Amino acid sequence: MTQTTGGGCLCGAVTFEVEGAFDAFFLCHCARCRKDTGSAHAANLFSGSATITWLTGKAFVKGYRLPGTRHERSFCSQCGSALPRTDDGMLVVPAGSLDDPVDVRPTAHISCAYRASWDHDLHEVPEMAGLPG
Ligand SMILES: [Zn+2]
Ligand SMILES: [Zn+2]
Repeated sequence: MTQTTGGGCLCGAVTFEVEGAFDAFFLCHCARCRKDTGSAHAANLFSGSATITWLTGKAFVKGYRLPGTRHERSFCSQCGSALPRTDDGMLVVPAGSLDDPVDVRPTAHISCAYRASWDHDLHEVPEMAGLPG
């Protein structure tokens, strides 16, 4: 049975479906991924065999490659949300862009030497079920 995972951007203009399994799931803490996502780390799923079908809004999908590097991102030109892209035949899917659950656990935290100064012992930070206040 082929596994199908649906996703899309924040504004809803772009929707897609990924068909197939993911091979790896990396949480990258490098400075480029932190800038790119505005967060502690990127969370990207990788697949060498899965295929993507853009259901709606393909015209809104834009790409950016940092000059002189292999760092690239794909995003909705209307809302800026991260979207999947293909890199050397490898499908790269930002985990947060998916609406359906995935049965893969992260493979590893990578580029940990470049973590943000506050990005340590996060399991010790209080957790709230909803918003504060
Ligand atoms: Zn959007
Ligand atoms: Zn990175």
